[in-house]
Amino acid sequence: MNMFDYHSHSDMSSDGRDSIEDMVGAALAAGLDEYAITDHYDYDYKDPSIDFDLDVEGYCTTLAATAKRCDRDFPGLPGAGRPFRFVKGIELGMQLGEPNLRNLKVVSSCDFDFVVASVHCAWDCAVDIPAYHERRDPETAARDYYDYTLKCLEEYDDFDVLGHINFIDRFTRIVPDEDVVWDSVDSVIKKLVEMGKGMEVNTKIFRVLEGRHSTPTLRMLKRYVELGGETVTTGADAHRVSEVGAGLREAEELMRAAGLRYIASFRNREVKYVPL
Ligand SMILES: [Zn+2]
Ligand SMILES: [Zn+2]
Repeated sequence: MNMFDYHSHSDMSSDGRDSIEDMVGAALAAGLDEYAITDHYDYDYKDPSIDFDLDVEGYCTTLAATAKRCDRDFPGLPGAGRPFRFVKGIELGMQLGEPNLRNLKVVSSCDFDFVVASVHCAWDCAVDIPAYHERRDPETAARDYYDYTLKCLEEYDDFDVLGHINFIDRFTRIVPDEDVVWDSVDSVIKKLVEMGKGMEVNTKIFRVLEGRHSTPTLRMLKRYVELGGETVTTGADAHRVSEVGAGLREAEELMRAAGLRYIASFRNREVKYVPL
């Protein structure tokens, strides 16, 4: 199996704990083949207790230096020892208006290999805080989240893969029956395929909900494939060294169950498909 972890955060994100160097060390120790740091840029994050701004210039310089070092030490050439590729990534928080405009500038200001775009805030509230859920029943909370995601996709397209499509399920009191919100979910998946964008299998939910749920659900991933979507990445969404590479085998099982035989690999924002 190819071990690709395309989603993780270092201490350059305000919620990450360990340095990029230590995270890369953990990726090597976990036997990963490709590893992306995707620190947060989430302008105007709607939770006053946290700031997801990023020193983009400093971040970009550190990514370039890390990629250079990894290419030198782990070049992946025959006889040169172990191949390992460091992927220069970023996780953009999408929000309508000014944040999406800033995202465009950030992406064009650095040579990223890979951009994952995610929705963490919807309708002017972070969805991981109680305030979002106090005003809504679980069904409305989910529907509002997917509808907002669709609006973001209609406004913003400079990214490669949509991050954790059902992020909302990690924070809701009860995950609503999928049938009840399916029309909203389906519109997001259709839009993604129409845009030619990828979908991420994010394994953090296995740690949060102890294996009872997946991101995306099997039905969501199957629908993406059925509509012609083929770009799927896997990511542990690690925020510390101990989480790097977590759940990748389960992610592969989910992909196989959805009929996928390839995993997406990115370099310079271009996708390549590698057999699972
Ligand atoms: Zn995220
Ligand atoms: Zn993340």
